[in-house]
Amino acid sequence: MFPGSLGQSISGKALDAGKWSYDTINPRDFTTDKHGTVDDTPYGGGAGMVLRADVLESALLSISPSSRGRVIYMSPRGKVLNQNLVQELSREPNLTILCGRYEGVDQRFLDAYDVEEISIGDYVLSGGEPAAIITMDACIRLLDGVMGNEDTAGDESFSNGLLEYPHYTRPAQWTDANGQTHDVPEILKNGHHAKIKEWQAEQSLAITKTNRPDLLKK
Ligand code: SAM
Repeated sequence: MFPGSLGQSISGKALDAGKWSYDTINPRDFTTDKHGTVDDTPYGGGAGMVLRADVLESALLSISPSSRGRVIYMSPRGKVLNQNLVQELSREPNLTILCGRYEGVDQRFLDAYDVEEISIGDYVLSGGEPAAIITMDACIRLLDGVMGNEDTAGDESFSNGLLEYPHYTRPAQWTDANGQTHDVPEILKNGHHAKIKEWQAEQSLAITKTNRPDLLKK
């Protein structure tokens, strides 16, 4: 599953250029029985399987303390990832990310190693790997020298608490398949920088008000 989409485009080029690197660890390599058992049934009953604390501990301890960094468990119960947290994580020299499966992870492991739980949103995935890839992608693009144009991140959604204004490109007039024509807003074509900025700020506020009133309240 790794690097998956992180091996493409911006993050892929940055990986090739050594701007970031990763290593994957398979908990199954740290099992002691011949079946490579990583999980067991939950105490107290209920459906599903739980990843074992002893196996996860051996996997974690295989990473030297100096290169472990913050230990994160991708989990729907966690603090929800947002751009502030992404910025914070992207400044960390190392991160260790645990991807759960099945019902999740034995709580004793999380408690014993002060593992931080981070969620990518209020829904449940079948595994933590896509969540880890999303978290990594969001962090990697903020690393020095990763995005070609450093300005790209400047006006982005969430960077100033608002959503970004709309974008347009050529052709200036586009006719859709139903014969309807659509023009680029006139203000963007007249080259008046200050007025364009004002228009973008208004659009940003309007979109945020419609799509994310919670951000405006904040
Ligand atoms: N039983 C867990 C619960 O209800 O909280 C859900 C387990 S889920 C089926 C399996 C794994 O997917 C989790 O251990 C976690 O690593 C990952 N996962 C699922 N949803 C996630 C989310 N919203 N954010 C981050 N990771 C998630």
